[in-house]
Amino acid sequence: MDEVGETFSGGCQCGAIRFRVEGPVIDASVCHCRMCQKATGGLFGAYVAVENRYLQWKRGAPAHFRSSSVAQRGFCPACGTPMTFEWTHERTAIAIGCFDEPDYFTLDVAYAAENMHPAIAGLVHVPARPLADTPEAERAYQELESFQHPDNDTSTWP
Ligand SMILES: [Zn+2]
Ligand SMILES: [Zn+2]
Repeated sequence: MDEVGETFSGGCQCGAIRFRVEGPVIDASVCHCRMCQKATGGLFGAYVAVENRYLQWKRGAPAHFRSSSVAQRGFCPACGTPMTFEWTHERTAIAIGCFDEPDYFTLDVAYAAENMHPAIAGLVHVPARPLADTPEAERAYQELESFQHPDNDTSTWP
């Protein structure tokens, strides 16, 4: 996934912020540290690191919270999506879930493994069900109207 010339797009859940990466990515990682848990509201952070010269904010730009003396974290001020971890002026780590095609990335490394949430190791053994696990749920999902921005660039939104 480090081929020159690759293009990746993505954005926040509401679509107020859209970005484009034109160029190679550095690596993809998860981080189990307490700050990544808190900043994402999830069990870990998952990021793709890119050189800033390959990153363009195409619509809007993240707001930031300075989470430590050496890093800040970007988020959408309109919808709250956690979007970046920024620890140098040269690089930005972008949350994998923000990319339009998150499945593209395979993980290179897991940081702060000593702090891994205990449930993760057993995740594959948790009973697995589809999103809609009953006919009623399936109907409800078919009828709901999503306000999430689609996984592609749009000229106007909403
Ligand atoms: Zn947003
Ligand atoms: Zn972390």
